Formats: sequence, structure tokens, C-alpha cells
Amino acid sequence: MIEALLTEQQKKLRDEVRGFVKWVPKQLLLDMDADKVRFPREYLVELARRNLLGLRFSKEFGGRGLQWVDEIVALEEIGVLGISLSCLFSLVSIVGEAIQVFGTEEQKRKYLEPLLRGKSFCAEALTEPRGGSDFFGATTVAKKKGDFYILNGQKRFVVGADGADIFLVYARTGEGSPHKSLSAFIVERDMGVEAKYIYGLLGTRGGGAGRLVFRDVKVPEENLLLGENKGANIFYQMMIPERMTSAAGAVGIARAALEIALRYSDKRKAFDKKICEFEGVSFKIADSITKLDAARCLIYGTAAAVDSLGSTGYTRRLVSESKKFATDASWEVINDAMQVMGGIGYTNVYPIERMLRDARLMMIWTGTNEIMNLIIQHEYFREVLKPDSSLRNVEDDAQESRAEDEKIYE
Ligand SMILES: Cc1cc2nc3c(=O)[nH]c(=O)nc-3n(C[C@H](O)[C@H](O)[C@H](O)COP(=O)(O)OP(=O)(O)OC[C@H]3O[C@@H](n4cnc5c(N)ncnc54)[C@H](O)[C@@H]3O)c2cc1C
Repeated sequence: MIEALLTEQQKKLRDEVRGFVKWVPKQLLLDMDADKVRFPREYLVELARRNLLGLRFSKEFGGRGLQWVDEIVALEEIGVLGISLSCLFSLVSIVGEAIQVFGTEEQKRKYLEPLLRGKSFCAEALTEPRGGSDFFGATTVAKKKGDFYILNGQKRFVVGADGADIFLVYARTGEGSPHKSLSAFIVERDMGVEAKYIYGLLGTRGGGAGRLVFRDVKVPEENLLLGENKGANIFYQMMIPERMTSAAGAVGIARAALEIALRYSDKRKAFDKKICEFEGVSFKIADSITKLDAARCLIYGTAAAVDSLGSTGYTRRLVSESKKFATDASWEVINDAMQVMGGIGYTNVYPIERMLRDARLMMIWTGTNEIMNLIIQHEYFREVLKPDSSLRNVEDDAQESRAEDEKIYE
């Protein structure tokens, strides 16, 4: 993160998380990448033991009561471990957000606390085989029958399909407009959730990403979050951690790749010179660190905005900008790091090839970067087209601004 913006407490948190990141065994990273480990529970248990999960949530349930500006500091450090481990760290923040903000006292005690204490593991089930971008087109249904909802449908690409104990699932409970007919449920695996297919992935392996099938799954009515047909409210709130975690984690992994490339360029020689003495190399490093610092500033500003304003159209725009900008920058920085390394960067002698495979996913998941653009332009149009008499009318500053007949729009 930007050093000058950090408080002493945040620096302490950063160092604490760095201590944890150093503890994570290299073999775990290798085994996950080799698909030998599908869901590393021991990693989450250790995070919980150190009280590092769900940092923003109430102390009462095992969190630390911190803010977004604190969590992004931790996330950049966790990102160094790669996208799978940072995703597993983030899932507690994402699913936990829904329970912390909208759950009943009983739901928090039963589901949030065990997540934060490393006794239970969660996943989020939003995407369906028919499409992830059109979230509100979901076709999974939940029909009320007595004290239960009967859940039928499928969700795809769920990290933790293999490994998680509870799933946050969105299903249709009404007939009307999609924004008023979805509900969110906490569904335990043991209620009858079937993990049908585990995907082979380019990168970000070891998270047990799979397809879930719900066939007449009986979910007790007390597992409904917030209320029937209130899923949209939960979805919008959850998209803050969903995208902020992607953004901050993206900076962490790219920083790691850039540092490897920088050190390499300071040692590697070509034409009797260190390669960092060639502008073609050192300017790539300059561009990369500039992109990462720009991403950090955007993420920090967004975190501060979310801390003070919560979920609004404006913060939705900033969160989407952060996700898009940071994940695009991360991909470019890691790609350039590989270029700086030459052929050896493409081998598994250095971890850059794994980072590159990991980073590709970030532009696709938690809402593709095209969907981020949809949100950004939508919210920005709304902001600017709202009349605001406190602003100077700069259109009037043109010499011929009164030539109304020349202002033709159709
Ligand atoms: C490894 C992995 C892990 C994942 N983890 C999870 C998880 O844990 N939980 C979960 O619920 N989901 C998860 N996802 C799903 C992920 O969020 C979706 O893949 C993503 O939202 C895109 O949905 P889709 O794959 O169905 O693509 P589609 O929605 O079919 O989109 C295909 C293409 O069309 C573009 N597109 C679609 N609509 C528009 C539009 N209106 N304007 C412009 N372009 C558009 C998209 O940007 C994309 O390029 C994961 C995905 C992967 C690959």
C-alpha cells in the first residue's frame, strides 16, 4: 500500500500479515498448483488462529472490527501467495459480509462465528451454467413448503464446491421483476448439495472450483437471509468485498512478480551490461510500478469512500473502477515481468509463469471487466446528468456558446 497513507496500526497489521505469508509452506502452493490439494483447510485454520479472517467484522463474532482501509493493507500482502489462497482468504470477507450486515443474531452465531474461528468453511454460489454476467437472470428456484424452502438448480465455477461446508446461494422465490424476486440462503453441504464436476483450470488451482447441483435440497426457513425477495440488497452489498478483494489481491501478486523481475534485471547481463541498464527493460519496470501505485491509490480512495459512505451508486462506480483497473494492471505488470525475465521467466524455475496463469482469471471473475465498464459508465452518466447548479457551466466559456442553432443533437 502507499506507505505515507498508512497509520502505525496499519503498518503493524501489514507486518503481522507478512509474518503469516512467510509461514505458508511453499509445498502447499506447489501442491495446489499441481491439483494435489483441492481445498487447503489448514491454511484457513491458521489464518483464524491468528485472528486474521474477516478483519472488518465484529469482535463479538471473532473479527477485529476494522475498516476497509485496513483490510486492503492485509489483502495486498495475502495476494503475494497467489490468487487461490487470496481467494480463500477473501471468501470469508465476501460471504461474511452478507451475514454480518443482513444476518440475524442467531445466523451470525451459527454461521459467521465458526467461519471466523476456522471451524467452518464457506463458498458463494452465484454463477449459473447459463451465464454469470446476467446475475439477475438466475434460474435456480426455492419454493416454500411448510418451514422449509425446496431448492432446485445449479451453480457453476464455485470455489469451494469441493471443500466448503456452507454455501451462500441465490435462488428465485418470486415471479416479478428479477430485482424483486431473488433471495439469498445459507445452505449447508449436508442439506444435500452435490458437487457434480470439478474444473481443470489454467491457474488459480487448488480451490476446489466446481459445479453444484441442488436437487430438492431442503433448506430451513431460518436460513433465509434478510427476507424473501430481498436478494438484490444482499447482492449489491456483497459486491463490495467481492470486487475490493480482487482489486487489492491483484496488486499483491503483481508486486511479487515485479520484484522478482527487478532483482533479475539487476543481475542478468546481455551485451556485457546488466539488462536493467537498457531502457527497454528499466522503462518496463518504471511503467509497472507506476501502474501499481495508481491502482493502490484508487483502491485506497475507494476503501475510504466505502468506509464513510457505504454502498451507494458512487461507491459502486469506484469499487468497479478499482477491480477493473487493478486486475488489468496486474495482468500487464506480470506479463511485462515475464518479458524482462526472457526465456527463464516462462519456465517453472521462477514462479512468474504461475502468477501469469493466476492473474488471467482476475479479469474474468467477480464480474468481468466488461461488466465493470457497464457499471462504471452507468453510474457516471447518472452522476453527471444530474443537474448541479453549484458547478460552473463550462459550456458557456466558448466564444460562440450562444449559437444555439448550431448545437444540433439529432
Ligand atoms: C476459476 C473460476 C472461479 C470462479 N469462482 C466463482 C465463485 O466462487 N462463485 C461464483 O458464483 N462464481 C464464480 N466464478 C464465476 C465468474 O464470476 C464468472 O465466470 C463471470 O462472472 C463471467 O460469467 P460467465 O463465465 O458465465 O461468462 P458470460 O456471462 O457468459 O460472459 C461471456 C463474455 O461476454 C461478456 N459479456 C456478457 N454480458 C455482457 C455485456 N452486457 N456487455 C459486455 N460484455 C458482456 C463477458 O464480459 C464475457 O467476456 C468463477 C469463475 C472461474 C472461471
